[in-house]
Amino acid sequence: MKASVKCPECGAPMSTQVTRCSCGWQKPDSPKKSAADHRCVYRPGERRCPLPGTISPAVHASERWYCRLHYRTVGDPQLGEAALYEAEEGYEDILAEYRNGRKYHE
Ligand SMILES: [Zn+2]
Ligand SMILES: [Zn+2]
Repeated sequence: MKASVKCPECGAPMSTQVTRCSCGWQKPDSPKKSAADHRCVYRPGERRCPLPGTISPAVHASERWYCRLHYRTVGDPQLGEAALYEAEEGYEDILAEYRNGRKYHE
């Protein structure tokens, strides 16, 4: 007996290996880098930005995610450093803003 599952969208039978259906449904957890470490990639030396990475400059999913502060400072180490300081100082506030779903602005 062959194991089979049904598409949760349209109910069409499909093999367990299939991760997408002709109706457009896609298996949500198809192999992708885990989102567990979704932190800002700004990391000068031993320090690392504590904020969650929410913006990626790449069009396609990339591993480089920046927080709002560092996204603006990409390519400018001085501004990046200042933003890191801001991120560390305002960490609690900024995270609270994220949790409330409000936009962060200084
Ligand atoms: Zn389907
Ligand atoms: Zn950052």
